[in-house]
Amino acid sequence: MDLFDSNSSERASLPRNMIENSMFEEEPDVVDLAKDSTAFPTFPALEPDEVTYEPRSSRLLVRGLGENDMDDDEEDCESSARLLGMSFMNRSSAHRSNSSPYTRQAPPRSCSRPSSRTIVVCVLFLVIVASMTMVLYFLPGCTFTKAGCRKPNKTSPIETVYPISTNGELFPWAQLRLPQSIKPLSYDLTLNPDLDKMTFTGRTVINMSILHSTNRIVFHGANLNITKATFKLGDGQASDVTVLEYKPRQQLAVNFSEELKAGQYCVLTMEYSANFSNTYDGFYNSSYTDKDGNKRVLAATQFEPLSARKAFPCFDEPAFKATFLIKISRKKAYMTLSNMPKAKSTNLSNGLVQDEFEKTSVNMSTYLVAFIVADFTPITKNVSETQVSVYSVPEKHGHTEYALTITSKLLEFYNNFFDINYPLKKLDLVAIPDFLAGAMENWGLITFRETTLLVGKESSLLEKQVVASVIAHELAHQWFGNLVTMRWWNDLWLNEGFATYMEYMSLQEVSPDLETGNLFLSVRFRALDKDALNSSHAVSTDVNTTEQVEEMFDSVSYEKGASILLMLNASFPGDQQFRKGIIEYLKQFSGLNTDTDDLWNSLTQTDKSTHHMNVSQMMTSWTSQKGFPLVTVNLMGNQVTLTQEHFLLTSDNTTHTSSLWNIPVTYVNDSCSLAPECRQVFTLKNKSDTFKLSKNVTWLKLNYKNTGFYIVDYGKDGWSALTKALKTNVSVLTYEDRASLIHNIFALSRLGRVPFRQVLNLQDYFSAETETSPVTEALLQFNNIYRQLEKRQESNLASRMKNFIMKTFHNLTAEQTWEEEENVSKQELRSALLEMACSLNEENCIQLATSLFKKYMESNGTLRIPGDLQQTVFTVAGQSDETWDALFDMYVHATYDSEKRKMLKGLASTQNPQRLVQILSFGLRGSHIQTQELPLVISTMCQSFAGCLFAWDFIQENWDRLIEKFPIGSFAIQTIIKSVTSQSSTQAQLNKVQAFFSGLKERGSQMRSVQEALETIKLNQRWMDRNLPTLRRWL
Ligand SMILES: [Zn+2]
Repeated sequence: MDLFDSNSSERASLPRNMIENSMFEEEPDVVDLAKDSTAFPTFPALEPDEVTYEPRSSRLLVRGLGENDMDDDEEDCESSARLLGMSFMNRSSAHRSNSSPYTRQAPPRSCSRPSSRTIVVCVLFLVIVASMTMVLYFLPGCTFTKAGCRKPNKTSPIETVYPISTNGELFPWAQLRLPQSIKPLSYDLTLNPDLDKMTFTGRTVINMSILHSTNRIVFHGANLNITKATFKLGDGQASDVTVLEYKPRQQLAVNFSEELKAGQYCVLTMEYSANFSNTYDGFYNSSYTDKDGNKRVLAATQFEPLSARKAFPCFDEPAFKATFLIKISRKKAYMTLSNMPKAKSTNLSNGLVQDEFEKTSVNMSTYLVAFIVADFTPITKNVSETQVSVYSVPEKHGHTEYALTITSKLLEFYNNFFDINYPLKKLDLVAIPDFLAGAMENWGLITFRETTLLVGKESSLLEKQVVASVIAHELAHQWFGNLVTMRWWNDLWLNEGFATYMEYMSLQEVSPDLETGNLFLSVRFRALDKDALNSSHAVSTDVNTTEQVEEMFDSVSYEKGASILLMLNASFPGDQQFRKGIIEYLKQFSGLNTDTDDLWNSLTQTDKSTHHMNVSQMMTSWTSQKGFPLVTVNLMGNQVTLTQEHFLLTSDNTTHTSSLWNIPVTYVNDSCSLAPECRQVFTLKNKSDTFKLSKNVTWLKLNYKNTGFYIVDYGKDGWSALTKALKTNVSVLTYEDRASLIHNIFALSRLGRVPFRQVLNLQDYFSAETETSPVTEALLQFNNIYRQLEKRQESNLASRMKNFIMKTFHNLTAEQTWEEEENVSKQELRSALLEMACSLNEENCIQLATSLFKKYMESNGTLRIPGDLQQTVFTVAGQSDETWDALFDMYVHATYDSEKRKMLKGLASTQNPQRLVQILSFGLRGSHIQTQELPLVISTMCQSFAGCLFAWDFIQENWDRLIEKFPIGSFAIQTIIKSVTSQSSTQAQLNKVQAFFSGLKERGSQMRSVQEALETIKLNQRWMDRNLPTLRRWL
């Protein structure tokens, strides 16, 4: 999935929070007992055989079902005690692990021959448990039912604690993850959507294999009204069965009185009805207005991560791969699409047509299934063995050609690069009018926002860059994610980190004119900023709740994942080794599921023959711990000492970690600093290490071209030497290295390691800087300080800061033209500079933008504003009361999507309170402004002081409606929270944010993004407290 936002550097600035929920967080029936235990373990991934390897915590909960009885008593005592929050169990565990006399006398993990103390404790414990069981049994709505307690015996003090189904019966499963005893093999899905009534009916036939004998089948289903269900074992007769539902976990189950035996096959058939989802996931409806002003409806799907279950009952976890045969009925005026090519169409007696698609030729995870009912039109082209088509609403047909061209090139590139051909006969790319993410990689049927797929012939390269990047990302997923899939969402980065990395890598080959290098560099800077916070998380991290699944779609999985792959690739001596390892990994695990270790092992194996680098050892240090290292370099003549520590931004300086990374430190020096051959490598594995250079040097620049995921501190002398070198000759370092120095020194100032004066010293070289990356990075950093000052209402300082920024960038800004510009990098530079100048009310900029807008208005759409200048022009128009209405009118009638979004950003930058309120309420209602655009609207408003106040009020008042539309933890919610909080820096602001979010409880207070927001405000506050005096003196 692409998270969206054409401003990709914004993607990297998502929130986190480290609260580790137990899996019971949402579970009213069993939660009370479980919550009391602070020591309650988190829920590890199930092993293939649930019977043998059930984690201890969960064993207790599934007991009484006849297949998971515990076999030792101490285990019972301990687990139960954990639930009751009893502390003695810690001692018990300690005894075991220390091989104490207790464990020698009795078999480990048993209290059948315990010490007298243990007997006393166990007896006492049994009494407590028995009393509690009785009390709970007689409580109304108690989860301890007769059925649950049906097998009392002296070795099991607590019988089953598991939830109640909607029909009042016991639900036979009490975990988030499904049991592993049943494996789905194939699905036959028949869907009958009714676009008039906004409902659908369906029939799902699931063929399954029984891997371990069991009495139940547990799977997923949400908001489905199951009207009939039958079950057939082997060649036997089908008979009716009851499907139980446990809503909080969106699970369904069928119980059997007779055990289903391992090795048997069975078929479950269900008929059901449901409403279309009114959010952006599941099987949802969307609409658009055609050129005659008629409203046209359509239905589409978005299943990743957890919403296939909203369209059909299924085993909705990535590891349950199966084949799918899909049939959909439609009115004659519509067409349907699904993952596979259409096999046949049949006229039904009710006047509808049923389209049947070929059975998938590959095993697929449920989140990759997709279908669409609409009246779209395609353009098509054959690429190798694949028919590639791009679909859009008929009116936008003319905007599909670029997508088709770039997709064809990319498909050929990937077929060759991965040495595995795209396995399906067709590949459709479809622009959906209502779509929340940027795009979704459904196998053979990739869905997009209109903005990320449709682009006019006359559009600028910068606009094409957005479309090409998203397509490159989604195509890479057809291998990384679709062919080889992460086993569970904890390793989402295997999908997303790879697709993100391949997105930049492929485009550098396929379309170098798009110059994606600057974008990738800035994305890596933002990933570092976010990962520096204490609320960050390891790339590969525990995921135990649905919110945590949503939260994995963040910059750590995407951009940090991509950054560490770049670092790894750059550290291989040959340029083909990385690719060879990837090919081996894809071939070895084709059609299967993997975890992070599988990838590192594949890369290590390839590497062994040519180079002795243990990839697994090196990369595990980057995926298993959060954050990244700060490398401090000390240069004495020709002797270099490197030291590493965790670059951790904490507001109270109390958290220290002993994390160590295996860092391929690269460096160049004053005598050779530009060409790739200048680059040397030293692997830093220890806390500190020393090496000698062949001769004395004046300075070193570490992290050549910023391909490593770390920050460098050169010490006072080192920074001075680099600054001096740059002042003498700005081209002594590559532009990536200059941008990385700017990024790093601001980060060090935030850490409190480098005084702000030193940051300003580096800025001295700036009069000669003209390259996009260093300029935009510096602009971003200074603008951030300016916005914070503005929001603290330090008006005087803010205006002095504004003058400083304008003065610093004055010459470069004055050089910019307002004509068409061909070069992408120059477009990026120009749009950043002019947007800055106009947003700071620079007179000349405002005047030129205003006059360009007037000409555009008068030309009746015939004049084109250069694509990279549109944002500046529309923002100026949106800020003026005179032109806002005209802009709004243009927005409502605009069909060209990337232009339309820029107009919306312009509208949202108004300072007029009435209009701010109006836009927000339009967005919430989805009238004039699509609800999917609310995160963009809010982040734009939050650029200004007044706008942000309105946005904050709006969020507080409408929180429940927002989380109805955007799931808790989702990228959209992360963006909203970050937008309203990231430029706050006062205690009052902190208190307000804290009070609001803590009051949300289960409606969002546990999100990582909340934690991140609070940390960020505290860090801003600390920086301001420290540096306000310097700013006052210096500005
Ligand atoms: Zn993706």
